[in-house]
Amino acid sequence: MHQQYVLPFVAGWAALGIGGAVLLGQLRSPPVKRIVWRVLTGLAGVIFLAAVWLLDGSIKNLLFMAPPVLLILLLNVWLVRVCDSCAALVQPRYLVPSNFCPKCGAPLQ
Ligand SMILES: [Zn+2]
Repeated sequence: MHQQYVLPFVAGWAALGIGGAVLLGQLRSPPVKRIVWRVLTGLAGVIFLAAVWLLDGSIKNLLFMAPPVLLILLLNVWLVRVCDSCAALVQPRYLVPSNFCPKCGAPLQ
């Protein structure tokens, strides 16, 4: 295990989480918010897999972690919706995407 990568990973992960939440909270354009959500989701996956690679250095563990990370990324892209009316980010309940925005009640596509 390469201990020197732990602090940069934690700092990068926290910066991505806090910065992403602040950025998404400021965006009011649904199409832009959708794009930013997908970019942040992809970036989180890349950082996580990079951390697995840098912390362990084993291709076996990287190949073991890649499918679940990819599945989580795809589920985040497919199931999380952005309301076209109020630009709210709507999380799925029990892996089922919501049909209506819980904030304004508008139908979601
Ligand atoms: Zn809404």
